[in-house]
Amino acid sequence: MLDRVKSLDYEKRIEICKLCPAVRNSKGIGLTCGIFLLKNYIPETCGCKLSWKAKLKDQSCPQKKW
Ligand code: SF4
Repeated sequence: MLDRVKSLDYEKRIEICKLCPAVRNSKGIGLTCGIFLLKNYIPETCGCKLSWKAKLKDQSCPQKKW
């Protein structure tokens, strides 16, 4: 079972991502860390869908912003 962060922590993470120059908003996918599924296509990005990644306790920002 995957551990989730508290909803406040999730919101904080998403707010940080929204201000990040690496974030992308793709139609039908939403916010992603860089280009969806393309790790490091933009340097130091993971390509993850942020509404999933930011909920998981063991996940962290590849640029150490959270
Ligand atoms: S996880 Fe980090 S690098 Fe990726 S969009 Fe969010 S703040 Fe930027």
